Amino acid sequence: MVEVASELSGRCFCGQVTWRSYGPVLWSGNCHCDSCRRATSAPFTSFFGVPRDSVSWRGQLSDNLSSGGKVTRQFCAACGTQMTYKNVIWPEEIHLYAATLDDPAQVTPQAHFHYAERLHWVDIVDDLPKYSGSADTTEAL
Ligand SMILES: [Zn+2]
Ligand SMILES: [Zn+2]
Repeated sequence: MVEVASELSGRCFCGQVTWRSYGPVLWSGNCHCDSCRRATSAPFTSFFGVPRDSVSWRGQLSDNLSSGGKVTRQFCAACGTQMTYKNVIWPEEIHLYAATLDDPAQVTPQAHFHYAERLHWVDIVDDLPKYSGSADTTEAL
């Protein structure tokens, strides 16, 4: 557990989808993988994990399944903002995007994942651990 937060809350771009969680925040980091990059149309994405059953939702989410049904990414049905990442290998967790937080200062990324896949013009100068893949499968570079 990297941080103890009070209530976390967030919303999509249009505000139709909102979420709340009391955490705890299990981990946080920036993902440089090709899938996150394409799903979010951003050079990398910043997200964090909380217990799946800690999150309550309002509004209509749509599902996008990939990796043979193992990964579910959910997005706002109205505006398309990416809201969640769920993977069958972490059945108790849900990953939320730090950029959807009502108060983005509530969660600070603590690592870089899939750093080997970063775009060549992304030059990270922080001192956070940088994993070539996920923290579960690779050592920090
Ligand atoms: Zn929306
Ligand atoms: Zn990723």
